[in-house]
Amino acid sequence: MGDRKIIFHIAVLLGVAMFASSFTLLYAEMCVNCALENNQVNSPLNIIAPDDILTYSTSEFLSIDELGTPIVSGGGIHTVTISNDAPSQFPLGETTIIWTATSGGKKATDTQIVGIASSPADIDSSNKIVILEFADGWKSIFDLGKPIFDKYGIKTTQFIICGSVGGNSPYMTPEMLLILQSEGHDIQSHTMTHPHLSDLSSQELIFELGGSKECLEDIGINDVKVFSFPYDDGWDVPEVVDEVSQHYEFARSQTDPLFYLHCNYPGSSQSDCSTFDGLGNLNEFHRWSIPTFNHNNLETSNSDDLQTLQDFIGVVNGATLNTPTAIHQIPIINYHKVHFNNSLDFDSVSFSTSTILLDAEMKYLKENNFTVIPFSDLVYDEVNNYFFVPQVICEIPISGIWVVNESCHVLNDVIAPSSMIIQNNSVVTINSQGSITIPSGKNIIIVDGSGLQLIHGSSLNILS
Ligand SMILES: [Zn+2]
Repeated sequence: MGDRKIIFHIAVLLGVAMFASSFTLLYAEMCVNCALENNQVNSPLNIIAPDDILTYSTSEFLSIDELGTPIVSGGGIHTVTISNDAPSQFPLGETTIIWTATSGGKKATDTQIVGIASSPADIDSSNKIVILEFADGWKSIFDLGKPIFDKYGIKTTQFIICGSVGGNSPYMTPEMLLILQSEGHDIQSHTMTHPHLSDLSSQELIFELGGSKECLEDIGINDVKVFSFPYDDGWDVPEVVDEVSQHYEFARSQTDPLFYLHCNYPGSSQSDCSTFDGLGNLNEFHRWSIPTFNHNNLETSNSDDLQTLQDFIGVVNGATLNTPTAIHQIPIINYHKVHFNNSLDFDSVSFSTSTILLDAEMKYLKENNFTVIPFSDLVYDEVNNYFFVPQVICEIPISGIWVVNESCHVLNDVIAPSSMIIQNNSVVTINSQGSITIPSGKNIIIVDGSGLQLIHGSSLNILS
């Protein structure tokens, strides 16, 4: 058996939070039933600093309660002293902290980086809306991304290459997709085999577009209605767009930091998202070319994750035109894989986001009260040719007066049981495929500050 060593760690380091101010902690080892002159006396002292920290601040400085716990080993029988040179307040940008362990005549150091991005303090809450979409259906999204989404209660949209699902592959299995769906994530189509669609014959297009929708439905995915173009290729080819339109309600394809729901992009002469212009040519911005922001390109061009977090904060705060009753702009962020890394240093894993960065971004959205909606919450108005997000669908009572206290949308034909009162600064929007019918002898009362909005194509019927 040899020597049985029972080592008491007088101050147990693991699980003890280290605070930002400088401090000293005693750490000693006592060896019982073994010779003092054993190897421990000569074992090298080693310290591993805690993981890097990536976060944000709305002011110029941030105090950080917990820097994490260093791991110290070796040092022999002497008392080990641990200290760090962290400031009490961290400035924006990167601060390198040196952690030092000393024991007898030995000394070891390691560094930890704290990265703090700058965030605007006051953003109109109407503008805090974002869509997060992950392309291709990589298994790492489930293994490494989902625990982070769950931690912050965030729901994503997953665009799946259905021909790659399952098997011994780096892609998610049907079971994983069904778990994501059951937990409120949006599962949508990204073809069967991820080809360049503009290269395909009409038969091949049918297989990639119609086939992938059927394939997802066979797995048990409901409500497959959104399509994502591989390589952003084909959205400007009429034959491809025509086939996409046979199977889906709308599609994402181009790259831009901000999606305009009426396709009235700055510098564009378009005022809606019609597929074709007056001459029968495809418009630049249409129902099948929703733009998303390529997060992975950002990671490749930036030197570290702090810069990417800073850019992310800028993109998700990019909407400025939304109101409590109408959303006009949504930043849509496009990701691919996730890889484990808790260091701020640049890591060149292509088409992949590190866990430290993904965690910091999801934390930012959660703490700043962003609404993350699934792609399929978008509705396309076929009469007016634009997208809208029915934030709240009106609830109609079974009997009695219909009192509206919160802005809401009517999406289909509804019959009020009696009179209707719209109050509390609320706006009822009847969308293009909707109508409200008020029974004979009843009426609508709209209190000051409130309103009723009829979108072209809708109707209001007050029976006499
Ligand atoms: Zn893809």
